[in-house]
Parts: sequence; C-alpha cells; structure tokens
Amino acid sequence: MANSVPGYSCRSEQVKLAAAIAHNFEAKEFLVAEVGTGVGKTLAYLVPAVLWAVTEKERVVISTKTKALQQQIAEKDIPIIVQSLGKDFKFAEAKGRDNYLCWRKYINIISGRRKLDLTEQEFIQAILAWAEQTATGDRNELKIDGRLLRSWGIVAADRYTCWKEMCPYTEKCFRIKMLKRLESADIIITNHALMLSDLMLPFKILPEYRHLIIDEAHTFDKESFDKLSCRFHRDVFVEYLGQLYTRTPYEKGYLSMLSGK
Ligand code: SF4
Repeated sequence: MANSVPGYSCRSEQVKLAAAIAHNFEAKEFLVAEVGTGVGKTLAYLVPAVLWAVTEKERVVISTKTKALQQQIAEKDIPIIVQSLGKDFKFAEAKGRDNYLCWRKYINIISGRRKLDLTEQEFIQAILAWAEQTATGDRNELKIDGRLLRSWGIVAADRYTCWKEMCPYTEKCFRIKMLKRLESADIIITNHALMLSDLMLPFKILPEYRHLIIDEAHTFDKESFDKLSCRFHRDVFVEYLGQLYTRTPYEKGYLSMLSGK
C-alpha cells in the first residue's frame, strides 16, 4: 500500500477494521463498525472485499450514501487497490437511469426532430464532442457550466420514454452497457438510493450478490424506511372507502353494486 499511496503510513485501526471485515466474509456474519475520520475506512474494506471477490468468486456490492463518495471510490480508491494488490478483478458502478445519456433522445435532437430553446441549443453544442466519444454516457464526465447542465433532462435516459427492446439503439445504449458491466463485475459500487429501490423492483438492476458493505451508514435506517415503507394518507384511505361505498349524492361503489345483484 505504501508504494501506491503517497505518504501512506500503517494505522492500527485501519488494519483492525480490515481484519474484522475479512473475518466476517469468512464467518458469514454481520459487522457494524464505526471508525474516526482519517482512519482510511474505504481502503480498509476494499482490500478484504476485493480479495474475497477474487479468491471466492463471489460478488461484493459496496453502497454509499453520497454520489461524491461513490465517485471517489471508483476514480481514486479502486485504482490504488488495483496497483497495490495487483489482482485481476472487474468493477462497475451502478447509478440511476437518469445519469446516462439516452442515445435515441440525443439522435432525435441532433437530427432536428425536436425543437430546442436557446439554452438547450447551447447545452447540446457543449456536449456534442463528449457524446460522440464517451464510453459510459455518464453525465458525471461532463465538465460544463452548471447553468447548461440544467438542460441534461432533454438527453437523459428515463423510464417513461425508454423504448426498451423496441429501441433501434440498444447496441449503443449506455444504460444497457452499464447493466452488462454489472453482470460481469466482481465489485459493484452503488448508492443507498439505488440499492434500496432495487430491493423493491421485480426486475433487478443489481445482479445477485451475497455480500454488501454499507458505507456512510449513519442515516441508513431513515433512508431504508423512506424507500421501503408504504405511505398511506388519510385522503387516500377516504378515497378507497368511497370506492367501496358512497351514499351522497347518490348510492354508488362496489358494495352497492353487490347488494343490487
Ligand atoms: S434503450 Fe432506452 S435509454 Fe437506451 S437509447 Fe433506447 S430509448 Fe434510450
């Protein structure tokens, strides 16, 4: 590690945490750990996670609360691990659909099939070179003015306008490429929002996994509650009751239909 991280010095808490995580992979147990800032917790879990994924051929998913940490792991920490461990492994990032350029929307725009306002035209000009050469279609690669980035939605993939298997650009589709990368990845880096929503989906985005590391877990209970719970408001309840039976202005609802039979 010292050869890969400039100024790296071995910290006993970091080694202890890495050893505890490695033990938990072996023992198939749960571990809750808290360490102070500056200990280097990311590297402490990445080392055992990568070693486990490579030697046991079992995928490990790492979930963060913030996209900033997700990006830091992918762009800074994983390269350190690659260099210091010298292991051959595949990693992939899983992000929400709207992070990816929809090639069909983009082609529609540059072929003039969609009218744009002035800011949108400026935005398209700013992303043209990137769109033609990006391998991931991930908006995170774009280094453009925040004012222009507000027009991202006109080219962003979204579930409502996606043509799915009817799309003529499935070969080029960046989201489909992302899903394929996930399928073959040993290590997947994602965020809590996507990981939790995925639990509720009939067709999963994340491929099967048995090992999960939840970083930035201090608000995970609240996030889990928000994503996994079902909200039932009084107004919705009254509406459902109304569908069952309403007396005014005239009798209607399923119950009155049944009683009339
Ligand atoms: S498959 Fe969906 S997201 Fe992908 S390019 Fe086609 S319409 Fe866009």
